[in-house]
Amino acid sequence: MLESLKKIFSGSEAEVPVNYTGKPDISREKSAELYDKSKGYFPGGVNSPVRAFKSVHGTPLFIQKGDGCFVWDADGNKFIDFCASWGPLILGHNHAGVREKVVEVMQNGMSFGAPTALENQLAELILKNNKYIQKLRFTSSGTEAVMSAIRLARGYTKRDKIIKFEGCYHGHSDSLLVKAGSGLVTFGETSSAGIPKAFADETIVVPLNSDEAVKAAFEQFSDQIAAVIIEPVPANNGLLLQTKEFLEFLRAICTKNNTLLIFDEVISGFRVGFEGAAGFYQIKPDIITYGKIIGGGLPVGMYGSSVEIMEMISPDGPVYQAGTLSGNPVAMAAGIAQLTELSKSSFYKDLNNKAQEFTESIQRFATARNYKFKIFSIASIFWFAFTDQEAISSADQIESSSMEKFKVFHRELLNRGVYLGPSGYEVGFVSSAHSKIELEKAKRAIFESLDFVFRGARAD
Ligand SMILES: *Cc1c(COP(=O)(O)O)cnc(C)c1O
Repeated sequence: MLESLKKIFSGSEAEVPVNYTGKPDISREKSAELYDKSKGYFPGGVNSPVRAFKSVHGTPLFIQKGDGCFVWDADGNKFIDFCASWGPLILGHNHAGVREKVVEVMQNGMSFGAPTALENQLAELILKNNKYIQKLRFTSSGTEAVMSAIRLARGYTKRDKIIKFEGCYHGHSDSLLVKAGSGLVTFGETSSAGIPKAFADETIVVPLNSDEAVKAAFEQFSDQIAAVIIEPVPANNGLLLQTKEFLEFLRAICTKNNTLLIFDEVISGFRVGFEGAAGFYQIKPDIITYGKIIGGGLPVGMYGSSVEIMEMISPDGPVYQAGTLSGNPVAMAAGIAQLTELSKSSFYKDLNNKAQEFTESIQRFATARNYKFKIFSIASIFWFAFTDQEAISSADQIESSSMEKFKVFHRELLNRGVYLGPSGYEVGFVSSAHSKIELEKAKRAIFESLDFVFRGARAD
């Protein structure tokens, strides 16, 4: 820690006078008008549920533009953004290199439904820098990538059941919108209407970070389990970091039972490092899925594996999977431009160091004031948790009452020019476009908002 910071964050620091009052709310007039209209067009006014601001204060903000680490809403409010379109924008908004490549490729047309050299280029960039996969298939979303990976695992093993973990999100396909019932090892209960029970019966749901539960599931269903699927860095229900030992245990038990291990790296891929969590923990899964960052802000997903397993995919093999816009040239162009930046030598070191300084100083502030608050982080992903637990590694450890504090925090942050995803279960992302100056400004806003959450009260 820097000496100057040490002074600021130690001892008498808790006596520093603070701003207890909530800032006046920003204007959301234009956003509210747009929301009124959109509610007539889309369920809940949105095209993806969490955008509707149901678990935070006020009308969802309609975003008009983004540049670098900033976004502007329809009312002209400017925010330092940590949502990053839910993860894809690791270079920040409207990165010149990505935009220029996209515009260049668009000059030649948008889609052909035939192979292009751009697909080869993006595949080469990925495969040359990733020792965990040998062949891949591009899709148009993370959901599609994971759904296809599950089908591939079932086709390859000729088994039907899968194990997933409570608190991991794998997109919205039928087999995976399944949550735990009561008990250590349970057949899932569907977590959405419209999913046949028969689908949920093929999905076994167990708690994260529990060797015991996984062992019990294998004892019960040993020769029926096609795959174990996990987010190796679970980041869709808080940030539920797992130990390397637990992931190694999964690798071993899968190998022993001829079950495939799937790392769903749609969020961690190209985020915790170019080789994602597989590289971070040095564990080789059998199938990996990517999404989000891989498309540079355009819709791309992919799944990859060994040559042997990928040969199961049509037209080489019997597992069918296709896509009208798969490998779309414009999306490939964005991916190529973004991943080229990420493959440069010190990219992740610089980004991760910057993010770590940011999160550490927020934690020091909260600790000095005895706030019941933890910031959990890995690489450039962070999660604000209103808790005093030292670690949270499974979904049932999250106190739902802490979300009330997040709601206040979120509103105060917006009023101070910082945009977070509108739910306390969502993580935030630092991008390479967040300069130290902007991170300092964001920290100030975060400190004031924390003070308000723990000491303040609004008149309204
Ligand atoms: C976002 C996400 C998905 C779904 O990807 P979409 O592109 O939203 O369909 C799947 N798995 C994980 C781990 C994700 O973070």
